[in-house]
Amino acid sequence: MTSAATQSVELVEFPCEEWVAMRTPEGELVSINPVAGTWTLLGGEDRQRFHAKGLNIKAMFACPRCKQIGLIPEGFNPPVELGDTKELPELHCRQCKFGCRVILKEWDKRKLYCAVYETFENNELKTHKQYLHALNDPEAKKYFWAQHTPFRVRLVAIAPVIGFFAKSEKDDRNLVV
Ligand SMILES: [Zn+2]
Repeated sequence: MTSAATQSVELVEFPCEEWVAMRTPEGELVSINPVAGTWTLLGGEDRQRFHAKGLNIKAMFACPRCKQIGLIPEGFNPPVELGDTKELPELHCRQCKFGCRVILKEWDKRKLYCAVYETFENNELKTHKQYLHALNDPEAKKYFWAQHTPFRVRLVAIAPVIGFFAKSEKDDRNLVV
């Protein structure tokens, strides 16, 4: 191996996964089994329980090499691109000293929607596309109509974007640009 010091630090994408947890009959978290190189979002009840103990934990991630758990606080609000975080500052594992740059996949749990709509301008019918993030279809419609006037706009379709990259520009079924 060559000297790591002069090389750029590896970029690792952490997918979001459910970790297996042991709980008391009351549902209290006893232990959690991290999956190396992933992150997990804690449920609302777990977060409230931690909060009641004075701990601020929204999510956890595990070192890709040794599974050491790192904590992500509620206020952590990184810039997001298409649902994933942008590249985060370097992680240095306290246990095994592994270092990497991190992208947390699917940090934004809302889905990306694409709305296709038409307007009539200067005797010309124009088709537009707009992207928005929402939890579900009704919310996506609500966000859309909060920004447009029904008299001037006809909504053709609004649906989750299946893949972020187009296979065919004319494929209207997938609503992908
Ligand atoms: Zn480690």
